[in-house]
Amino acid sequence: MSGILYIVPTPIGNLEDITLRALRILKDCDLIACEDTRQSLKLLSYFEISKPLISFYSYNQQYRVGQIIDKLFDGKNVVLISDAGTPGISDPGYILIKEAVEKGIKTEVLPGASAVITALVGSGLPTDGFVFCGFLKRKPGKMKKELSELIGLGKTIVFYESPHRILKTVEICSEVFGEESKICLARELTKKFEEFIRGTIKEVFTDIKNRKNLFGEFVVLIYSKEDTEK
Ligand code: SAM
Repeated sequence: MSGILYIVPTPIGNLEDITLRALRILKDCDLIACEDTRQSLKLLSYFEISKPLISFYSYNQQYRVGQIIDKLFDGKNVVLISDAGTPGISDPGYILIKEAVEKGIKTEVLPGASAVITALVGSGLPTDGFVFCGFLKRKPGKMKKELSELIGLGKTIVFYESPHRILKTVEICSEVFGEESKICLARELTKKFEEFIRGTIKEVFTDIKNRKNLFGEFVVLIYSKEDTEK
């Protein structure tokens, strides 16, 4: 009988944000597939967990999938984790999960930390429907097109962004959605410098433009003025 592929979320900052079930499964498994082994070793040693690790990241995932599937067919229980948050959400995982499902291998997904849900709930923007875009295309023209297609859906738009592109991205959002649309930048969630920067796009742009040091990880959330006025 084949083993089980467990998909296990890990904290996005605060190390207390890991479930008891996640810790038990990590302690009981045969093998942990992780992105950056150094990063995961820090997390695992904090919880006094010592298990064989296999790296599984965007550049080697194609050939690693077969190796991990073989282990599962050998009856080994494998845990998939990423550097932070939920595997498969803008992180490696999808290809392995798809292959396991197609091959009839049992999978168990644990609920847990993910920046998208934490940001959405804390944003104060509508939570009844949302569109998550992962990372947007980087070229301004392509980003504009991608965002333009989301106008009028009547849902909160959520995406991930890096700190060095955040100002330019907010500027593009202003062009696409209008400066009076609502925006929230959820920054450094669950960490010491956690912050929700909320307001109209115009207000938030002015705020961050005047900051000297805007470090950290960001989730951007927008509710289009066009949708508010419906
Ligand atoms: N799998 C992760 C999840 O479930 O949220 C996402 C991984 S993705 C490679 C990393 C991006 O997620 C960051 O660039 C940032 O946009 C967002 N992110 C991750 N942790 C965050 C945090 N603590 N605060 C704000 N955004 C975060």
